[in-house]
Amino acid sequence: MGLFSDDKPPPLFVPSDLSKPAGAVVDADGNVTCVGCGTKLAVARADIVGQGYRCAACTARAHVTSLQTGADDNAANLSAGDREELRAFGMKFVLSGIGATVLGAVLTPFARKGFALLVGGVCLIGFGIVRIRAAR
Ligand SMILES: [Zn+2]
Repeated sequence: MGLFSDDKPPPLFVPSDLSKPAGAVVDADGNVTCVGCGTKLAVARADIVGQGYRCAACTARAHVTSLQTGADDNAANLSAGDREELRAFGMKFVLSGIGATVLGAVLTPFARKGFALLVGGVCLIGFGIVRIRAAR
């Protein structure tokens, strides 16, 4: 829905793969397998993560690890393919940023806009590194 009533709505985004992840299977007894440790538990007691279900102990462990190291538990939430895409996306920004930074450094003595290009390149590198780190 657009801001105004006569705006056209944006095209509907349909992800290419809507299948359930392998860890999101509930057996006939209503039990699931934790994606972290492999323990079987009732689906009602499980936490939902991107790749399936997780037991409370693994969720608590992930939170403590996140607090101690700052590392997210992306392995439980994103597939290996999604994390690889995230790394590749970040790498595009890092490479573009290196190019912009070098070009900006070369142009800065001759044009003021060269410095803006240099700063923009550093920002692109930083954004790319954040994306790459998010894929861990
Ligand atoms: Zn577990």
